[in-house]
Amino acid sequence: MEADLVLCTGNPGKVEEIRALLPARLKIVGLTEMGLPQDLPETGDTLHANAEQKARFAFERCGLPCIADDTGLEVDALNGAPGVFSARYAGEEKSADANMHKLLKEMHGRTDRRARFRTVIAHVDGTGVEFFEGTVDGTITEEPRGAGGFGYDPIFLPVMSNLTFGELDAMRKNAISHRGQAVWKLVRWLSDPHHRER
Ligand code: IMP
Repeated sequence: MEADLVLCTGNPGKVEEIRALLPARLKIVGLTEMGLPQDLPETGDTLHANAEQKARFAFERCGLPCIADDTGLEVDALNGAPGVFSARYAGEEKSADANMHKLLKEMHGRTDRRARFRTVIAHVDGTGVEFFEGTVDGTITEEPRGAGGFGYDPIFLPVMSNLTFGELDAMRKNAISHRGQAVWKLVRWLSDPHHRER
């Protein structure tokens, strides 16, 4: 199949966000179109390791430039947890609802509610790997607000907003989000004609 970039995520929320930010001239395909599994292996203990592992797994099977992201929610009062374990915080079934409720329970009664989302995108092609990182600071709310977005969005209040990620529409979330910033860095790099001379 002809494509400029393979987007290595089975998460429909992420596919939508990343596609909306990448230039329309790029032909982007997903894992299904490449005949790859939706759930790629991520056994590393850092966001960088997991993003690279997923992108490399796909690149080795399809030979096209691949990007994968790994995201963690780092809560100060929990010493950075759930962090790289955000997807499986409440168990292997990776339930967004269960994860959110476990986090709210851990945060019950705590006054320091500071947290940040961190995204690392890995781009893997025949010349190697390149990383792009984005973060957004905020706080954990006392209860879920809003039905938009995905994952922990309804309980994350970014510093520059009165609305949680779950209450912001996709365009507003993308404008300030961890993933939005990482994708912008990737787009700048992809648009630089010299980037392949590394
Ligand atoms: P992963 O990068 O797909 O492994 O995501 C880790 C965990 O963070 C999953 O539970 C996701 O649902 C959650 N997550 C990833 N990105 C976001 C986001 O932009 N907002 C809220 N939750 C997210």
